Amino acid sequence: MPEFRELLDGYHRFRRTDYYRHRGRWEELQGGQHPPIMIISCCDSRVDPATVFDLSPGQAFVLRNVANIVPPYDGEAGLAGVRSAIEFGVTGLGVRHIVVMGHGSCGGIAASLKGGDQGLEGHSYLDDWIALLDEPRSRVIDDDSIEDKQTGLEYEAVRQSIVNLRGFPYIAEREAAGKIKLHGCHFAIGKGQLYVLDEESGAFRPD
Ligand SMILES: [Zn+2]
Repeated sequence: MPEFRELLDGYHRFRRTDYYRHRGRWEELQGGQHPPIMIISCCDSRVDPATVFDLSPGQAFVLRNVANIVPPYDGEAGLAGVRSAIEFGVTGLGVRHIVVMGHGSCGGIAASLKGGDQGLEGHSYLDDWIALLDEPRSRVIDDDSIEDKQTGLEYEAVRQSIVNLRGFPYIAEREAAGKIKLHGCHFAIGKGQLYVLDEESGAFRPD
């Protein structure tokens, strides 16, 4: 299984090239991070925000999960990895933008469309997680004007995550005060095309 060796080879390439060229920047970054942007995207190996947005280290605080879902704010105590990362990004780092990036051929979205019961038999954390898409899935399935249900739900899940972000009281306050902006987008893998959500019309348009 050579994969881990390939990973370490990649690390050595990075040390010799990008790290070496920008070592002053890495030394500066050691002092702290001040990213202006938070990006919430899928775990999918094909849609790394650092690649799609050509990011430099320190530029974006990135949170990835299955199907780029933001669960609703519930004000309850609990082990909530996504909500704690959002809390730190917004109240700790003071990011000025949150970008939710969906993508084409998303397996999490496909699992939801198949009925959501796609994980391990018995209890599946994955099934519980994908169940967060049940409402957007119903809207897409019931909407006869949406022919491509996969892309339709990829879009609708991004819209729903933005709605859910607005349910976090500290995000709503900052948005009302003009201190933070929320954005949705969708990356079509094969074409390498990014579509950006126009919130007024609800449409995703190529940028
Ligand atoms: Zn995905």
